[in-house]
Amino acid sequence: MRFHPTPRALAAGTAALLALAGLTACAADDGSAGGDPQRVDVVAGFYPLQFLAERIGGDAVAVINLARPGADPHDLELNPSQVGLISEAELVVVLHGFQPAVDEAVQQNAGDRAFDVATVEPLLNAAAGGHDHGEEHAEEEPKGAKDPHVWLDPTRLATIGDKLAERLGAMNPERAGEYTQRAAALRTELETLDTEFAEGLKTCQRREIVVSHTAFGYLAQKYQLEQIGITGLSPENEPSPQRLGEVIREAREHQATTIFFETLVSPKVAETIAREVGARTAVLDPLEGLSTDSGEDYLSVMRTNLETLRTGLSCS
Ligand SMILES: [Zn+2]
Ligand SMILES: [Zn+2]
Repeated sequence: MRFHPTPRALAAGTAALLALAGLTACAADDGSAGGDPQRVDVVAGFYPLQFLAERIGGDAVAVINLARPGADPHDLELNPSQVGLISEAELVVVLHGFQPAVDEAVQQNAGDRAFDVATVEPLLNAAAGGHDHGEEHAEEEPKGAKDPHVWLDPTRLATIGDKLAERLGAMNPERAGEYTQRAAALRTELETLDTEFAEGLKTCQRREIVVSHTAFGYLAQKYQLEQIGITGLSPENEPSPQRLGEVIREAREHQATTIFFETLVSPKVAETIAREVGARTAVLDPLEGLSTDSGEDYLSVMRTNLETLRTGLSCS
């Protein structure tokens, strides 16, 4: 399947090519991102969207992930060849508000070819799934801010998958039945995962989770947990000494035995808190990135997360 570039996309693609002249052969002569005429060329903003596109598209799509494996996709910066990929893709799967540089490149180069997760599944407010005792918290997000980490609720991810199948089917009607079928199969797997979480977290001694950044609002809301984020919605902000003190008080008050940290974030702060309150640390992976060679996928990492939570919260 071939995409016919608009003049605007062509101009952007040409600019990207000029910027790269002599440096790379990344963009094919025919101007298509993947260069495979049999497949729909899909560009995904980061891992969970890549997972969705690959599972639903199967061999009918060629998916490129913009985020580097193992790198934090928040605030991803795009190089000119990645902007070229966006302007040449047949479909760009993004989550508006999660990666501002991607949002901007999509708006300028791929407006009508974007599948925006944030418009097909309404996002929760930034404070959802949060934990407080009514006092002011240092990590508060600006008013009206939305929490982008929607993929951490498996049932919401299933709904997004159904919508993606519809979109792919509209683009590629002769294979629409396949997309619908794969989305239904994925929905079954995600609903099984949801049941495992609901059962596995039903009876626990604690329900408060101290985490690196507030990525787990959807998970917390779905399974009646309460997250205490060391930092806010973006992982790169350093916590203030005041916030650190608050988190230590919270961890003590709720008798946390585990301080959770992430694969893509330095464990130092979590270790400091753990040492202070006599807890251990464990990895709770928000699945923002995945290293390609890990052999893991969304489902396997979520199952590891469930076991980690069951241990950390003493669930029976
Ligand atoms: Zn995040
Ligand atoms: Zn508390």
